[in-house]
Amino acid sequence: MVPSISRRAFIKGGLAAAGTVAASGVPARAARLDERRQLATLLDISKCVGCEACVEACREVNEEKKPDPRKPFPKMYPPRVKVEDWSDKKDVSDRLTPYNWLFIQSAAVEIDGKEKTLTIPRRCMHCANPPCVKLCPWGAAQQLENGISRIDADICLGGSKCKAVCPWSIPQRQTGTGLYLDLLPSLAGNGVMYKCDRCYDRVADGELPACIEACPEGVQTIGPRPEIIKKAHQLAKETGGYIYGETENGGTNTIYVSPVPFETLNRQIEKGSGRPHLGSVAATMEQADKLVTAMLIAPFAGAIAAVGKYYKLFKSTKEEGAPNE
Ligand code: SF4
Ligand code: SF4
Ligand code: SF4
Repeated sequence: MVPSISRRAFIKGGLAAAGTVAASGVPARAARLDERRQLATLLDISKCVGCEACVEACREVNEEKKPDPRKPFPKMYPPRVKVEDWSDKKDVSDRLTPYNWLFIQSAAVEIDGKEKTLTIPRRCMHCANPPCVKLCPWGAAQQLENGISRIDADICLGGSKCKAVCPWSIPQRQTGTGLYLDLLPSLAGNGVMYKCDRCYDRVADGELPACIEACPEGVQTIGPRPEIIKKAHQLAKETGGYIYGETENGGTNTIYVSPVPFETLNRQIEKGSGRPHLGSVAATMEQADKLVTAMLIAPFAGAIAAVGKYYKLFKSTKEEGAPNE
């Protein structure tokens, strides 16, 4: 049984853990993972019928990971830190939100002289060298050995750095939840950032991500990145199609093949907050200044990760009804 722990003990214990890790040092996180071990997905846009079965499956399977914020929200200082509350708009499914990690974008195009609407499933691209992971000051965003990037809701302070450095602004913030409430409710972050975690838990159990399993049209294929890249080129060659994701941001683990150029799709889709573009993207992490920043901030990442472990323990005891000072 987990021992009971008070709020004061949590802060004391968490800071002690942070100190130990900071003193021991942690490895810099700038290294790129072996691509042969990274799992990538191939999305054949020509097959998608926009039925949203994948969107529904994603919502259902990941229900327990979604935020349950505490209200009223603490007042933030400085007040420019924006409150973002999606808890009364959980049903929104036409953009990315903390409650909706996958949505369908549409583009009206012309193929062989005929008008057609293409539908494109959009979520985190799972970059091969993800800036959201490398530049998260607290180590809340992590990349697993198989290339999946995920944000640990128990460590994230909702500062939104991941969204700021993501070329597609994918992560979405929910205020009133997470570590900041128990640490510095008015001064640190402002919630937790959420995004597709490629169903890392299902994948670890040998299952398919829910969106892939639910698709009636077989739009997505998953496999080791080099194989998926090969398949994407084969498909593009056979169909006269175009590829997106192989080189964008230095390469991603989400590879789209489209029957029309991505410049055309990018012109036609609705873009903006929670609706990512399909334009060209330079390799963010190859910019030397950002790599240096990543290495400089790495020590804090281990420290806050240690606090996060204490937070998990703290939360579980609170849920069991432990007294809270
Ligand atoms: S698309 Fe954005 S959120 Fe996803 S891995 Fe890349 S940088 Fe991170
Ligand atoms: S991989 Fe999982 S979390 Fe990501 S969009 Fe698909 S179902 Fe949702
Ligand atoms: S389930 Fe498949 S066909 Fe339906 S919207 Fe999703 S990717 Fe497209």
